[in-house]
Amino acid sequence: MKNIYLLGATGSIGSQTLDIILKQPKMFKLVGASLGRDDKKNDHILSQFNLEIACLRSDQKKHLYEKKYPKTLFVVGDAGLIEIAKYPKPGICVNALSGSAGLYPTIEAIKHHKDIALANKETLVMAGDLVNQYINDYHVRLLPVDSEHAAIRQTIDHEDIDDIEKIVITASGGSFRDLSREALEDITLEQALSHPNWSMGPKVTIDSATMMNKGLEVIEAHHLFKLPYRQIETILHQESLVHGLTYFKDGTIKASLGQNDMRIPIAYALNYPKRSRNNQQMPLVDMHFKPMDFKRFPLLKLAYEVGETGGLLPTVMNAANEAAVKLFIEGKIKFLDIENIVIDQVKSFQNIMNPSLELIIQTDKDVQSSIIEAYGKR
Ligand code: MG
Repeated sequence: MKNIYLLGATGSIGSQTLDIILKQPKMFKLVGASLGRDDKKNDHILSQFNLEIACLRSDQKKHLYEKKYPKTLFVVGDAGLIEIAKYPKPGICVNALSGSAGLYPTIEAIKHHKDIALANKETLVMAGDLVNQYINDYHVRLLPVDSEHAAIRQTIDHEDIDDIEKIVITASGGSFRDLSREALEDITLEQALSHPNWSMGPKVTIDSATMMNKGLEVIEAHHLFKLPYRQIETILHQESLVHGLTYFKDGTIKASLGQNDMRIPIAYALNYPKRSRNNQQMPLVDMHFKPMDFKRFPLLKLAYEVGETGGLLPTVMNAANEAAVKLFIEGKIKFLDIENIVIDQVKSFQNIMNPSLELIIQTDKDVQSSIIEAYGKR
């Protein structure tokens, strides 16, 4: 039986993780979870699982929860996430938090000897080198929950890294893949939130529409698979059924295919190195591939440059994007302003190499608050 700690239990990845835990009750025990703002959802989780520790967003209703669930230890806010990461029982920490808030809990969970199933790509974008260092020092496993990375992991397992020519990450193209740049001028939030293939949280859905998501994934892949950026390619594949490919020196190509259902990569990470049963098999249909269009998606091009440069720059790009997406969701800026804000921030930043964790976290906060300050009052 594996102990599971789930950060971000009420989000899209979080609730799909709960589905898997419920389907394999003899395999997994949910020990701790961080909850959201919706009391109904929280109650649903607390009454289904006997949590030992649960993290609430604020302490406003803490006493009510404590009364209702006396066996659960309730903790609160960012400090509470760390309490879960530190909880003194071994297990897997599924990090399904959205945005830069995911970084610090990942590091604390590693330091407390938990394996990591990582859906929070910002963790590796901001601090990939440091996270890899901790993974080595504490001898824990880092399993990607992103569909593309789970796919590539399976195509390179048991292979020699020197035999790899390149890896290829597929991109659906997001909500506006058939629109020209001119047509993006007056895009609404509602349009941006309707993804053609995947059902995901709002941040990653907007990131898919700007292709920033693929940029973050390229940086994530660089840290996960220890490959240089020139060996990481992206292509457009509108069906999202081939998730990743690896080209080997001898001409062999391995691809990993599967239904576009996040429960598959989540279950793969939780059951690793074994596999669980899933009765829905994907029928083989016509599939289409197109070269990536970097002019159409400038944020992806930027992400390659930023990743290659390294230092604090990936943190700045990520923070600018996070703040800009927040402003777009709040209706304060237009869709194309997201790109402008991110590009401006990256271009005007004085980079620092080999930043400490403290500097990374501080820079993330500073960049985000300066953008919210500058645009938030509109
Ligand atoms: Mg992905």
